[in-house]
Amino acid sequence: MHPSKSVSRRHFVGGATTALAYLGLKPGADLWAHGVNRLPSPYEQEVDQYDAFAKLHFNENPYGPSESMMEAMNMAFKYSNRYGYPDGDIREVIADHHGVPSDHILLGAGSGEILKVVGVTFLAPGKKVVGVDPSYGSVYSHATGIHADAIKLPLLEDFRQDIPAIVNATEINYRDVGFVYLCNPNNPTGRTVSADEVRQLLDGIPPDVLVLIDEAYHHFVEDPTYATSVPYVLEGRRVIIARTFSKIFGMAGMRLGYAVARPEILQRMRPFSTGSINALVKWGGVAALADNESEKRVRETTLRLRKQTVAELETLGYPVIPSETNFFMVHTGRPPREVRTDFRARGVLVGRPFPPLLEHLRVSIGTSGEMDRFMTAFKEIFPVRASTAGSRTG
Ligand code: PLP
Repeated sequence: MHPSKSVSRRHFVGGATTALAYLGLKPGADLWAHGVNRLPSPYEQEVDQYDAFAKLHFNENPYGPSESMMEAMNMAFKYSNRYGYPDGDIREVIADHHGVPSDHILLGAGSGEILKVVGVTFLAPGKKVVGVDPSYGSVYSHATGIHADAIKLPLLEDFRQDIPAIVNATEINYRDVGFVYLCNPNNPTGRTVSADEVRQLLDGIPPDVLVLIDEAYHHFVEDPTYATSVPYVLEGRRVIIARTFSKIFGMAGMRLGYAVARPEILQRMRPFSTGSINALVKWGGVAALADNESEKRVRETTLRLRKQTVAELETLGYPVIPSETNFFMVHTGRPPREVRTDFRARGVLVGRPFPPLLEHLRVSIGTSGEMDRFMTAFKEIFPVRASTAGSRTG
C-alpha cells in the first residue's frame, strides 16, 4: 500500500486540522472570508500528509525537474489535445546524446516499462533470467508473473555482484536463458560493476545470450573503474542498456526512460511497448539533456549529502556499504521492517526490507533538511556504537 494511503486512514480524525494548516488557515478561521467555501477533501488531507514526510524510501530526486524543463513542459501543454505534434525530436536527441543512430533507441514510460518489455519479449514459461539478489526486484517478480524463472545468485561478501557466478549459471542453463540482468550500479546496494568485469561477463557467456544492463543510477557514479556499457551496442553485442529520466532529472512521476540496443533487438520488443509518452514529458526530456548545469547541481548536492550522512553514521558506529548512487545501505543490525516503523513515527520514510540483507536499511538521499531529519531520527532510534569512521567511504 502506498504510505500516504495508510497514513491518511490512521490520522483521519486529525486530518481536517492539518489540511486547514495546509491551506494556510487556523482551525475556526472564517473559510468563506478566505474564499474557501468547503471543507478540505480527504484527497487534500492525503496530499498534506504526504508532503510532510521526509521521503527517503524510493531513491527519488527530491528537487524535481529543473526550471528549463518546467518551461519546456509548460510550453508543451498546448499539444495536450493532439495525437500528432512536434515532440522536440526526443528520440533523435537521446540518440545524439549517446552517439548512436536513432533506430537504436526505444522510448518507454520510465525504464520500468523497458525492463518489463524485455521480460515479455525474451522470457516465457521455462525461460530464465539470470542475475544477483538483491537487485532491482521488479525484473524477477515480472519474470515470475509470466511463469518464467529467475536464477538469483548471492552477492559477494563485500556486496559486489559475482560476475564469475553469473557466467557460470548462464553457461549451465544456456538453452533456457532468456537474458542476463545486470544492474550497474546495483539497487539496493549502490555498488558498481567495473568496466573490466562487464567485459569479463560479456566475453564469458555465449555471444548469443542477451544481457540487459540497467544504468538507472549512472549519473551519480564517481568510481573510475566504472563505465557505461552503451559502446557495446555499437560493437554489435547482444546488450540492451536501460536508462531513466526519473533519477538525475527528477521526472519519476512523469515517466520517461529508454533502451539503447541494436535495431533488430528493439524491433522484437516494439510490439510489446506502449510507446505512450505524453507531450509534456517528451519536451521535458529534451530540455533535461540540454541542461547540464542543473544535472551537475543535482549530482554534486546529492553526492555531498550522501558523503556527509555516511560520515556521520560511521562516526556513530554504523558501517555503510560504499555507494555510487543517490542512496546507501547502512548496517543497523535490526530488521528493516521494525526500523521503518520507528522512522515513520518520526515522519521519515526509509527503504523496505531487501532480503537476504535483513540487518541493513536502504536510505535515499533527500534534501539537506530531509537528511537532517533522518539523522535526528537515527540518533533517537539507535544507540551510539564504537566508531567505524575511516574504515569505509560512501
Ligand atoms: N531500474 C532501477 C535499478 C531502479 O532502481 C528503478 C526505480 O527505482 C527503475 C529501474 C525504474 O525506474 P523508472 O521506471 O522510474 O525509470
